[in-house]
Amino acid sequence: MQNFIGDQARDVAVVGAGPAGLAAAVYLARFLRSVIIFDTGDGRAKLIPKTYNCPGFPDGISGEDLLVRLREQVKAYATDIVQDKVERLERTEEAFTLTTAGGVMRASYVVLATGVIDKAPTIVGLREAIAARTVRLCPVCDAYEAAGHRIAVAGPERLALKEALFLRHYSPFVCILSNRPADISQTTRLVAGAAGIEIWDIVDDLVPRGSGLDVVMADGSPSRQIDVLYASMGCDVRSELAAGAGAHCDEDGYILVGPHSETSVQGLYAIGDVAKALNQIAVGFGHAALAATHIHNALSARRDRATLRAEAG
Ligand SMILES: Cc1cc2nc3c(=O)[nH]c(=O)nc-3n(C[C@H](O)[C@H](O)[C@H](O)COP(=O)(O)OP(=O)(O)OC[C@H]3O[C@@H](n4cnc5c(N)ncnc54)[C@H](O)[C@@H]3O)c2cc1C
Repeated sequence: MQNFIGDQARDVAVVGAGPAGLAAAVYLARFLRSVIIFDTGDGRAKLIPKTYNCPGFPDGISGEDLLVRLREQVKAYATDIVQDKVERLERTEEAFTLTTAGGVMRASYVVLATGVIDKAPTIVGLREAIAARTVRLCPVCDAYEAAGHRIAVAGPERLALKEALFLRHYSPFVCILSNRPADISQTTRLVAGAAGIEIWDIVDDLVPRGSGLDVVMADGSPSRQIDVLYASMGCDVRSELAAGAGAHCDEDGYILVGPHSETSVQGLYAIGDVAKALNQIAVGFGHAALAATHIHNALSARRDRATLRAEAG
């Protein structure tokens, strides 16, 4: 494990080497800033079988391939990508201190690009089902590819209804799955019914089969088949470092940011999924460009102020 104690402080430390963090590092390196990136290698982008809405890839690209390309782009600027978890982040007077298993690192600015972790139903073979696109996690990403299919949505009623209504635009067959009739309110049933969305109560199990899934019913009635399951169960937002450093988050844990992706703690930025916005690669790229440029300008202004002070005596 690399030891950072006594290592030279960097202009910027980026936590997370998903699409957002890597894009920020490219911008910062091209602004001639010293950057270090920490990563634990378990981001959301790795789960993408193939994205078709990422600008510039008309034939689509898998999440893994996109990350390989972004890493290549970062490494062309000799920027360090360190496989290590940032355990703690502290704001000191002049800089931030980042603590990892490998040591302690100081940086003038920090960009958090730590992402979120999707909650998903406990299905045997879940990972394979996501790769096969029978289980999906993001209708904004791939509802287009589910158009006309038999779609089911699983999740707490508020989230499931919202997602089912979104998906109804793409398919005449959309249903909401539930374990117990009592879990779905009368209002939800009325709204769903008016939109032509079925509700399948008393679902016992979901079993990936062929190019779809079997929905096993608890009352012993025959299993029903669907093509695609959307898990609409929310996510765990990886904002502990921000919260620990005093940054404001919303009730779901998303980090609140301003127009340049700066958090409520000066010098601390949050980009990509972990920031309150639309969880999309293109949004992460946009955040990265805004944050990196703001940091670069702030560092330049800091240098100019120091020069003036030195000249003044
Ligand atoms: C199945 C699936 C399909 C999707 N399809 C699409 C699509 O078609 N189009 C689209 O735009 N989006 C899609 N998305 C969403 C997309 O994956 C995310 O919007 C994108 O990955 C967010 O990038 P990010 O850099 O913010 O976070 P992530 O990609 O999640 O990366 C976060 C990184 O931070 C690291 N990390 C976290 N905490 C720490 C720590 N303490 N120390 C060090 N490292 C840390 C993690 O290891 C990870 O590498 C999809 C998501 C899923 C799950």
